[in-house]
Amino acid sequence: THLGFQTVPEAEKEQRVYQVFESVAKKYDIMNDSMSFGIHRLWKDILLHQMNPYPGTQLLDVAGGTGDIAFRFINYVRSQREYRLRQKLKSHQNLSWQEISKSYQEEALKPLGGSQVVICDINKEMVKVGKQKAQLLGYTEGLSWVVGNAEELPFDDDKFDIYTIAFGIRNVTHIDQALQEAYRVLQPGGRFLCLEFSQVNNPLISRLYDLYSFQVIPVLGEIIAGDWKSYQYLVESIRQFPAQEEFKAMIEDAGFLKVEYRNLTAGIVAIHSGFKL
Ligand code: SAM
Repeated sequence: THLGFQTVPEAEKEQRVYQVFESVAKKYDIMNDSMSFGIHRLWKDILLHQMNPYPGTQLLDVAGGTGDIAFRFINYVRSQREYRLRQKLKSHQNLSWQEISKSYQEEALKPLGGSQVVICDINKEMVKVGKQKAQLLGYTEGLSWVVGNAEELPFDDDKFDIYTIAFGIRNVTHIDQALQEAYRVLQPGGRFLCLEFSQVNNPLISRLYDLYSFQVIPVLGEIIAGDWKSYQYLVESIRQFPAQEEFKAMIEDAGFLKVEYRNLTAGIVAIHSGFKL
């Protein structure tokens, strides 16, 4: 049953990854919640807090899958907008109702303050599920979906303020190429943010995590999604991904500056960040 991804030739990796996500797309969200006990939600929330987007931010979310980062981005921008509106009203307590209503109307004209997110994922099935979810949850404005490869992004240079990739980069065949592409499409001053599984830094947690990963995850994959192999791939791909410092160096090699990382949950995942200056 061993997938042997280490021995898979590069040319085949992309195809295999495609098959994995094609096969798990419909169960992807349920699996995320059950395998991480919901903690992936917290990790994604933390990414958004670190991003702290300002009004008008143009975000590119690569390997955006079923939209988890994009929807959070829109929620964040919406709540910031409500906050601004409340502050505005507070600071003009003796305004007439006409003035107050004008203030509201101005905000209503630019519902997300001009912020937009483009979700780019290589997998048509994942994008399909994401689009359905967006419709169901009422995310209609400020987002668009593009099928595309992180290694060869279908966007012009210097186009985005922020680039995110969450649990995506380890699936890419040529990570260095994906990082160069991230650098290319970001504006000068733009920020790169990556949320990815990393290396656990505590020996006891590491033991437990190994047990859980190798013994439990494929079983859960089989029970919930009827797909042992895809989830075995998941575990293997996590083990093969470079540790914190090594990945940091790769981001620097792509040209990013001020590269830093922060471990979450004992290093089970890390957020790497860098700037194009
Ligand atoms: N970002 C989402 C999240 O955090 O829930 C989805 C992560 S999912 C584990 C990985 C995603 O990466 C899949 O949707 C897959 O199709 C996508 N992917 C894999 N290789 C890719 C590539 N070369 N370019 C773009 N997306 C890719």
